[in-house]
Amino acid sequence: PYMEQQGSHTLHPPRVLIFPFPLQGHVNSMLKLAELLALQGLHVTFLNTQFIYNRLLLHTDIQARFAAYPGFLLKTISDGLPDDHPRSSDTLLDLFDSMNSISKSLLKQMLASDELGSESSPSVTCIIADGLFGKFTTDVADELGIPIIHFRTIGACSFWVYFSIPNIIEAGELPIRGKEDMDRLINSVPGMESFLRCRDLPNFCRLSDLTNQSLHHLVQETHHSKRAKALILNTFEDLEAPILSHIQTQFPKIYSIGPLHTHLKHKLATVASSSQSSNSFLEVDRSCIAWLNAQPAKSVIYVSFGSLAVIVKDQLMEFWHGLVNSNTRFLWVIRTDLVTKEGDSAQILAELLDETKERWFIVGWAPQEEVLAHPAVGGFLTHSGWNSTLESIVAGVPMICWPYFADQQVNSRFVSEVWKIGIDMKDVCDRQIVEKVVNDLMVERREEFERVAEEMSMLARKSVNEGGSSYCNLERLIEDIRLARS
Ligand code: UDP
Repeated sequence: PYMEQQGSHTLHPPRVLIFPFPLQGHVNSMLKLAELLALQGLHVTFLNTQFIYNRLLLHTDIQARFAAYPGFLLKTISDGLPDDHPRSSDTLLDLFDSMNSISKSLLKQMLASDELGSESSPSVTCIIADGLFGKFTTDVADELGIPIIHFRTIGACSFWVYFSIPNIIEAGELPIRGKEDMDRLINSVPGMESFLRCRDLPNFCRLSDLTNQSLHHLVQETHHSKRAKALILNTFEDLEAPILSHIQTQFPKIYSIGPLHTHLKHKLATVASSSQSSNSFLEVDRSCIAWLNAQPAKSVIYVSFGSLAVIVKDQLMEFWHGLVNSNTRFLWVIRTDLVTKEGDSAQILAELLDETKERWFIVGWAPQEEVLAHPAVGGFLTHSGWNSTLESIVAGVPMICWPYFADQQVNSRFVSEVWKIGIDMKDVCDRQIVEKVVNDLMVERREEFERVAEEMSMLARKSVNEGGSSYCNLERLIEDIRLARS
């Protein structure tokens, strides 16, 4: 139904612009959303920063994959930073600031001049923007009269904590008064009164200056989502229903359509398409799959801190000794930029080679979804990024959580206290503790965690099957996009 005649006007088919914040977890999940919408016949424009697009071109088949969808466009925009800027986790504010000014005006220009459309669907009729830069995208959408929906790549749990931070401050529950105050319960996040401690708040809440830019930014952007027509979350109702109903009091229109990677996999299977490809910014090292193939069932703990977290050499050594001393086999992702300050991780690694070699394997970047689904993997030591958490949940793999920043402190609390599918070891980095928790997860408490993790995995998969909550919410979203017209 691409060209509908309406009186004397030709009504073009709807075109959705999808615009992620330029970070791995964000681009990964929004590309999945883009493909889900394209599979249902919508025309999609996916907008990457030039910097990220170059990396995708290097390491993925992105152009060939999306060329198969009618009306699919891959477009780029400048992030406004010089080419040699590190764009690392400690310089994210530069990226926010630069995009807020430079990309904002470029975006407006591109939308106004129909640069983001094609001949059959020249104009963007709906924007799905990453809520992490909700303000400027909504400003542009409002100025041009285009409906906008916000997509958040984080869980409902951390979204709700971000949203509630002004209440926490107003109630006098922040700032945190030193280390001895970290286990105090926070009472002003509805639905989390019985388990959310100071240490479970996003790490930016630990600074005594509560006007710090990072915190201010996260809270402000989250509140700007109230201006959007709706909110899309990469979660599923069986996982986060109680928190979703709290969010609904402030955001009446929510589409929970996750886990997106499972949702897409399911939809691709129904059209007998090949399985989904990588969206990685780094070269995927598949050699670990052959190594996993040679390991006994559920004997390996997979260790990864995601795309942004960095550690110092002492922390690397504590994890290393803890893992080796646990006598558990492990597969560890050590990015070339994982270890900061004390230099070259390759050199640090060379010093680690020892006689335990047959029990571990190290890669620079892994095919993570495939690793988690591998029968040899029985546990995941993770930084609790939201994508990693969802991927582990779907695979039914229990977790040890060692959160680094932002939403990860909240996610890890939910994994251990609410969903009971793992152990939270936040704020501790000691080889004896690492050894103990690995042993607990993989041996002592294994059955207890496995039972709950399998149950949750089943619910996750059910949610994207026909009639499931995420399945129905996606149908509703697509219907609403079709109806949305500027
Ligand atoms: N990932 C991967 N290979 C790795 C490590 C991570 O493919 O070796 C993927 C992982 O599957 C996830 C994403 O990178 O989809 C990381 O996103 P997450 O939200 O967990 O953490 P972030 O990197 O944003 O901190």
